[in-house]
Amino acid sequence: MKPFVLFDLDNTLIDRKLALVEWAAEFCALRGLGTQEAEWVHQLFKDRAGPGQFVEVRERFGFAEPAEQLWRDYCSDIAASVHCPSDVLVGLDELRAAGWRIGIATNGAADIQWAKLRATGIARRVDAVCISEEAGARKPDRVFFLEAIRRCKGDAGGTGWIVGDNPVTDIDGGRDAGLRTVWINRGVVWPDGCLAPDHEVSGARAAIDLLAAAAPEREPR
Ligand SMILES: [Mg+2]
Repeated sequence: MKPFVLFDLDNTLIDRKLALVEWAAEFCALRGLGTQEAEWVHQLFKDRAGPGQFVEVRERFGFAEPAEQLWRDYCSDIAASVHCPSDVLVGLDELRAAGWRIGIATNGAADIQWAKLRATGIARRVDAVCISEEAGARKPDRVFFLEAIRRCKGDAGGTGWIVGDNPVTDIDGGRDAGLRTVWINRGVVWPDGCLAPDHEVSGARAAIDLLAAAAPEREPR
């Protein structure tokens, strides 16, 4: 059985945080709204984005555009502004060339997550994609992880890894599903009260290097 790794998408392979702040500022500036409103919009989308948020935005500010149109514009704007660092893209290719299967395991709406995966070039470098809206379950639910593992043609018996930035949804959830865990800390301290990850690294490229150094036949640990 080939080793496999699931990567979280937002703030693991791409910097969603920065893209969202910039989008909220521009979205509001274009409509004559100030920084306070931009912060309100940013907070609304911080943890979750979908057409429903635009119903709320539209009602609050009285925009004429339908919520669906605003959502479609959001998807294309965000997809155009996020990027995956080139050394990470190259690293994904290297992992696959070394015999790894790679899956994406992400919470979110299918249209925005697919738009980001395609625009950044990640989609064509992975073997499987599991998005919560399509899977009918969200991380950290074990059901979600088992579906992601199935799509990646992996087994839940010890050859799989998860790489992500969220201690609960990625690391706790992945561990519960039998995966080895790599936490991307992005300069943050591991939260008290959570079981520590198997490995901690500063970014996606470092995670890829760690996996590449763990030769599959030696049962990495
Ligand atoms: Mg994330």
